[in-house]
Amino acid sequence: LLSPDGVVAATIFAEMSALASRTDAINLGQGFPDEDGPAEVLEAAMQAIADGVNQYPPGPGMPVLREAIARHQRRWYGIEADAASEVLVTAGATEALAATILALVDDGDEVVTFEPSYDAYAALIARAGGVHRTVPLRFPDWRPDPDELTAAIGPRTRLVIVNTPHNPTGAVLDRDTLGLVVELAERHDAIIVTDEVYEHLVFDGTHVPIAALPGARERTVTISSGGKTFSTTGWKVGWLVAPAHLVTAILAVKQYLTYVNGAPFQPAIAAGLDLPDHVFADAAANLRAKRDVLAAGLVAAGFEISLPAAGYFIVADAAPLGFDDGAELCRRLPDLAGVVGVPISAFVHPERRDATRSLVRFAFCKRLEVLQDASERLAALG
Ligand code: PMP
Ligand code: GLN
Repeated sequence: LLSPDGVVAATIFAEMSALASRTDAINLGQGFPDEDGPAEVLEAAMQAIADGVNQYPPGPGMPVLREAIARHQRRWYGIEADAASEVLVTAGATEALAATILALVDDGDEVVTFEPSYDAYAALIARAGGVHRTVPLRFPDWRPDPDELTAAIGPRTRLVIVNTPHNPTGAVLDRDTLGLVVELAERHDAIIVTDEVYEHLVFDGTHVPIAALPGARERTVTISSGGKTFSTTGWKVGWLVAPAHLVTAILAVKQYLTYVNGAPFQPAIAAGLDLPDHVFADAAANLRAKRDVLAAGLVAAGFEISLPAAGYFIVADAAPLGFDDGAELCRRLPDLAGVVGVPISAFVHPERRDATRSLVRFAFCKRLEVLQDASERLAALG
């Protein structure tokens, strides 16, 4: 997190987006769409601004959004949540993760995640003084070994962080794995934190929210965000759903992080959450077509890929092209092919990077013509 001279390192996403703009390369690094989402959501924000919804919203979020989040959990997953005491609006899923980890992890507490994992987890666990234990997911099917999962969770485990659909791999965790997490969390009295920001962007299989499994609801903090579902990553409206005593503890930290955020965007995301099913299905279908174009391009260029079941990203192995070091390839890729990707090493602890050394993550949440252009450029690597 900190370099030896105490300077905070830039995230890999900031570094790679800067590289893309410096070199004029196609940016398939940081995951953000290049098209707007549903017009109803955009118009609701403009209307809210015009209506004067421009001052601090209430600390836990605007009731209209908290109620829409509770309705969303019931409608899609049959999960009941009390909007007034069990739902908290946050500045993106990022703040939900930060406030949860800072509130619940004390010095020396163990926090278990799968690995690779979204970069914020390791940084926040370290910031909270926690000890990070990991369970490997292996290319190309990313299925965790139940024995390794069982060995990682023990009496010192405070949190188990699950992320499904998963960034960077695009894997959707199956019911058996999630069931085992619940069983182990119950056995060792650990809290489950689940990051489900890609919940509606599933192409193969179905998203199973872990809080819907028997025994999970009372020990689970479910985190999501409007950013991915409605292509509004810059709005930073996220949320969490958890038992009231956990919401109270997390809110105590959250109030001194941002206090509140995004007043006019909150009713707009609420409007989005109430949109009919086909809007959600269309978003996934559009993204699936994009996945297929980039997947074909990467394979034609000579990469070995893991076809993602969900999300924004494809992980590709550059070893068949003669590149053993994904981080080095990512630094050279703008010159070699005019494209930017992110090395999987950024999602793995430095001591364990060997197994994933030649892997690179490419985002496909881009217009089809951009993906076609990127595919043609990558063909130059062969
Ligand atoms: N978790 C995961 C797995 C993500 O991919 C992202 C966004 N890249 C976030 C959390 C952060 O979401 P937000 O932008 O809503 O803070
Ligand atoms: N979630 C996005 C990604 O994985 C963006 C993350 C960020 O910019 N912090 O690329």
